[in-house]
Amino acid sequence: MDNLVNILDSFHPGWRERRYVDNFIAILKDLIIPTYSFLETRIENNRAVFPKEWDQIISALKEAHFFKLFVPPEYGGEKTSEQEIYFMMELLGYASPGLGIIFVSHGRAIDIMLSGTGQQKEEYLPKMAEGDFGAIAITEEKAGSDASAVGLRAERLGYHYLFNGQKIFISNSGLAIIYAILANTKGIQGPRSLSVFIVENNLPGLTIKGLPEKDGLKILPTGQLIFRDSPVPTKNLVGNEGMGLILTLDVIDRGRIHIAGICCGLAYRIFREIYHFAHQRRQFDHPLTSSQDISFQISDMFTRINAARGLCLHALRQFSTPYYRVSSSQAKLFASQVVMDVAAKAQILMGGKGYFRNELINQLSADARGMEYLEGTSNIQKMIISRELFRMYHKEKMV
Ligand SMILES: Cc1cc2nc3c(=O)[nH]c(=O)nc-3n(C[C@H](O)[C@H](O)[C@H](O)COP(=O)(O)OP(=O)(O)OC[C@H]3O[C@@H](n4cnc5c(N)ncnc54)[C@H](O)[C@@H]3O)c2cc1C
Repeated sequence: MDNLVNILDSFHPGWRERRYVDNFIAILKDLIIPTYSFLETRIENNRAVFPKEWDQIISALKEAHFFKLFVPPEYGGEKTSEQEIYFMMELLGYASPGLGIIFVSHGRAIDIMLSGTGQQKEEYLPKMAEGDFGAIAITEEKAGSDASAVGLRAERLGYHYLFNGQKIFISNSGLAIIYAILANTKGIQGPRSLSVFIVENNLPGLTIKGLPEKDGLKILPTGQLIFRDSPVPTKNLVGNEGMGLILTLDVIDRGRIHIAGICCGLAYRIFREIYHFAHQRRQFDHPLTSSQDISFQISDMFTRINAARGLCLHALRQFSTPYYRVSSSQAKLFASQVVMDVAAKAQILMGGKGYFRNELINQLSADARGMEYLEGTSNIQKMIISRELFRMYHKEKMV
């Protein structure tokens, strides 16, 4: 962990002097890394249920002002740069990728609120700065990669929208107090039919259910939201009707870079594990690293992890420019492929041991595979990159 902190510090001299950093690193080392292997969650009676260590972790994070870093100062948060949030995501990726995803989803719900009315921001953001979790719910059975196919019906009836339908694979299900929900306000399929709403966890007619066990990311509660005649007040509409997809896609651009950060941190953790193992493990009277093939594989891993981090830092420099969508997609595409590749190779380098479930490398590999789906699969990133390239080629002659 200290090595990763030093690497990150070299990119942003002075970062370690920020007030929260030492506390955050201590929590990662003392509470999060030691519990990584056994912390799991399940959803029961509309609530995510965690082992007792969870409460200790969350209290420590609250005390260290961690939740405040995602919220602007005018709503009870603290000033943070994009690069600092990225560094925290790398560190979380190293310590507990599932916990990292919990905070990515939380951060996206906050981003949606930031497009809301003054009243919405005043009502929700201070609570989120104090530790109320958020979630963002787009995916449905028939609307996965194609978010424009969202069918969850939000029918306007006076001062309410009546919600009927379901969301699936939603991170922070049962943990979040506040959900940003993409719903269909027109009743016909299409991007301009979608609107985004703020929904609280105690909404009448909302049932939150678990799903079958995942391969990895065990600490991340991932479930289903089922709405039956649930009345959402009209004041909870964010932005205008029909603008929901645009708002959501903008927010996801920022999420991609955070997922990419988690991928880099996780890839570095796997690299450290295998680097250590390959030095210790002896066969044919020599450590594994004496084989040129193995030492070249290790060099390749390290080079590709740094290349992925380079793409992330490149994207961060383009934040708020028209090129951010391409660069954040490139970073997510490349970093998720690197972490999956590093994990698969590391498991093989560990020999038979790497095949057993209780081995750390196996758990980290399962987490690595999860990175493929979050904020869009690799094919979807390629689709975004090629679409944006065509647009730039025709309009701006940038390619
Ligand atoms: C652990 C986890 C947490 C998640 N958290 C959330 C969350 O918090 N909120 C949320 O809304 N969703 C969440 N999701 C859902 C996730 O965003 C979707 O799984 C993802 O967008 C892919 O959708 P899908 O699973 O329906 O796959 P599909 O869209 O059915 O895709 C299946 C395959 O086809 C490929 N594909 C699809 N269309 C094309 C095309 N036109 N060209 C080429 N290839 C294509 C895809 O790349 C994929 O490989 C989560 C998923 C997981 C696994």
